[in-house]
Amino acid sequence: MNREDFIILDQKIYDRHLVYFDNAATTQKPEVVLNAMSDYYRTINSNIHRGAHYLSQRATDRFEQARQRIQAFINAVYSHEVIFTRGTTESINLVASSFGKAFLFPGDEVIISGMEHHSNIVPWQLICEEKGAKIKVIPFDERGALDVEKFEPLITDKTKIVAITHVSNSLGTINPVKQIIDIAHSHGIPVMLDGAQAISHIRVDVQALDCDFYCFSGHKMYGPMGIGVMYGKEKWLEKMPPYQGGGEMIKTVTLEKSTYADLPFKFEAGTPSVGDVIGLEKAIEYIENIGLAKIAAYEEELLRYGVEKLSEIEDLDFVGTAPHKAAIISFNLKGIHPYDAGVIIDRIGVAVRTGHHCTQPVMDIFCIPGTIRASFALYNEKSEIDRLVEAVRKVKTMFK
Ligand code: PLP
Repeated sequence: MNREDFIILDQKIYDRHLVYFDNAATTQKPEVVLNAMSDYYRTINSNIHRGAHYLSQRATDRFEQARQRIQAFINAVYSHEVIFTRGTTESINLVASSFGKAFLFPGDEVIISGMEHHSNIVPWQLICEEKGAKIKVIPFDERGALDVEKFEPLITDKTKIVAITHVSNSLGTINPVKQIIDIAHSHGIPVMLDGAQAISHIRVDVQALDCDFYCFSGHKMYGPMGIGVMYGKEKWLEKMPPYQGGGEMIKTVTLEKSTYADLPFKFEAGTPSVGDVIGLEKAIEYIENIGLAKIAAYEEELLRYGVEKLSEIEDLDFVGTAPHKAAIISFNLKGIHPYDAGVIIDRIGVAVRTGHHCTQPVMDIFCIPGTIRASFALYNEKSEIDRLVEAVRKVKTMFK
């Protein structure tokens, strides 16, 4: 649907029409997003918050209006609970570092899951190392479904935070995050969700979920690269120290001591990426105009079709077959390294991702070097899945 909004898709790669199935890595951007950003730079580009002049005020208004749209999109109580970052990775680093500084002590525990992206493992390892805390892991089963039964027994009076992914980027699993949050909250423990793979596919209502933090990237939801969001409940953000120091985030500065600005600015040091924030706002407007429910239903249809067609291929093993899945299909071909397969598939003009997808622990559990991953977005079509199937069959023929 709406394919014509994405001009980049209208090109040939190696003499074949481009099929873009690397959407979990980054989505393409519709014209309205590109135009909004270029309009910003052409008409009101200016540094925000500090200037009394016309352009600066216009840019500031647009920037804060974007924050409000994001607040509404995720249903946050306050717009100052929406903190702009460079992306999910920076958002998670912010939570780990700042929450960790305030609340982690030697012997404390952080719970993550076994299917986390490296972005939701390494920041916790860094802070746990610094604070003498340790990480515990919720396992998943052979289908890639989280073993929720094993979650509650991991909790002790030393557990300070749970940080898990809403949707797995390598397995496609949609995790039962509400259940995890309810269990964690019954023990008084806050929960951070990595929403990188969920935000453009699932309606996220942070109040209904009651999550304490929610992190996502603009570039995975038809918006620009270099912009993301860390949502945090006011009650936590008030108690957490700044993540970075610099301009914008202060109230007063002397050479001896500084005091910090109120939320959200306390967490937004330096000049923000205003053009990208405006692009992200447009991307959200674009998604809302189509309707997330419609997008989700369409992607589900693509997922079903993709699984059905790929299942017809002999010696193809799916990696990640949980009952609740987003439109991500990971698979391997018996006896063929995913990288080798990826090179041939690319030559047929189909962009898939091969490798460990920044989830090496997941690959270790399945004892595989990586997978071939096709991930769908609203502009993909069933005929493109047929092209993928054709490409996979070609790989098999070549390796026979
Ligand atoms: N978390 C998940 C589940 C992801 O899929 C990704 C990116 O692929 C990230 C975190 C990191 O996102 P970014 O690179 O935009 O910071």
